Amino acid sequence: MKRKTKIVATIGPATESKEMLGKIINTGVNVCRINFSHGSHEDHKKVIDNIREINKEQGLFTAILADLQGPKIRVGKIKNNGVEIKNGNEITITSEECEGDASKVYISYQNFPQDVAAGEFILLDDGKLKLEIKSTNNIDKVIAIVRHGGILKSNKGVNLPNTKISLPCLTPKDLVDLKFALEMNIAWIGLSFVRNAQDIHTLKELIAKAGSVSKVIAKIEKPEAINDIDEIIIATDAIMVARGDLGVEIPFHEVPLVQKMIVKKSLRASKPVIIATQMMESMIDNITPSRAEVNDVANAVLDGADAVMLSGETSVGNFPVEVIDAMDKIIKDVETDESIYNYEYPPDENVIDRYITNSVCFNSCRLAQRVRAKGIVTMTFSGYTAFKIASFRPNAAIFVFTGNQEILNMLSLVWGVEVFLYNKFVSTDHTIADIKYILKKESKLQKDDLIINVASMPIAEKGQSNMMKLSSIE
Ligand code: PEP
Repeated sequence: MKRKTKIVATIGPATESKEMLGKIINTGVNVCRINFSHGSHEDHKKVIDNIREINKEQGLFTAILADLQGPKIRVGKIKNNGVEIKNGNEITITSEECEGDASKVYISYQNFPQDVAAGEFILLDDGKLKLEIKSTNNIDKVIAIVRHGGILKSNKGVNLPNTKISLPCLTPKDLVDLKFALEMNIAWIGLSFVRNAQDIHTLKELIAKAGSVSKVIAKIEKPEAINDIDEIIIATDAIMVARGDLGVEIPFHEVPLVQKMIVKKSLRASKPVIIATQMMESMIDNITPSRAEVNDVANAVLDGADAVMLSGETSVGNFPVEVIDAMDKIIKDVETDESIYNYEYPPDENVIDRYITNSVCFNSCRLAQRVRAKGIVTMTFSGYTAFKIASFRPNAAIFVFTGNQEILNMLSLVWGVEVFLYNKFVSTDHTIADIKYILKKESKLQKDDLIINVASMPIAEKGQSNMMKLSSIE
């Protein structure tokens, strides 16, 4: 059976050539992530063009995720690109641009002195260095005491786990990057450092204003976002558990249960969820993963994630093809375990507008389980039924037929979904017969396999799905 859990790979120097993109896509990548924290638009355009050429040449629907940096805070340039800061020493953090040394350092956050308070912590370089705030002049300087010293290098990231940050959710750089991503028709837009549902509404308004249908991924990596998780899940189209920054912003030992909580809530809301960061980190340098990494990927699949993500492993790693192959093997083995299938979430009777569709989707999965159907076919324009059916995690393959070009690539992120471009919606009977013929011809199904079609009748009206049909392949 085809792998259900999808693989997201971050593209970088190790994978940006057309040849390498072709290799990793053919080894199993479903979504290519472009990290807007690095690289120029010119570089990104080359990658986007290469992915689209590969898709066209091979009839694939690899999705692209444009990951916006969001309000990421950094220190400025440091003398000699690195100085040692020692435990117990005082250091001035200033919002005035300067070259840093062991006694002072620039922070790319203008209102920092106004927003912090004594006793709060500053974490530098993914939490490797830790400072405690002693005082602020509320204008441009903050005095901090080094609690965990070490080498501080230029442009390293800053995390402020206790501070209520007043930066906007989209920085001027994000707005420029968003414009570019929307012009390029990118299927998924990721937003880093989401703090609340309003951040998602703001991004969605900008996307709609630009006349785009791109969908949004909320990256959960701040404690505030965890506090507003229910509203964020309602507002967003998909979620990423961004464990790199999350494990710095909250105590790292709390991440596993937060991951499980977010996956559970996302599944319940039929919103795809990605588990990200350090999944196969050791494969940046090694040809095989550590046993703990194998278990991490396996547990993400067992939790019910739609996708697992690679960052440095594929962007700068030495074994980008091997890491995809290893991940593919782990996922396929775990997917033989029955516990990941057939979630029971009966449709909510209070959801009036989608109650009929939700009931048809839920019961198509129940029927598929009962009769051991090999496939559930949905004919969709918005993609709604694909998201919904996938969230019930059927054993049966989920074949999505759509004439809507815009959603074909986007759906590659969703658990279990296989897409087909199809726009000959004539009559329900004719379309069902035609689709069965295509699935048999493409060796997706065989004679006597049972199949369930979910559709909207009358088909030409492209309304909400209100029908399901059980039949067998002739
Ligand atoms: C993360 O922090 O886990 C993450 C995915 O963010 P980024 O790689 O964009 O810093």
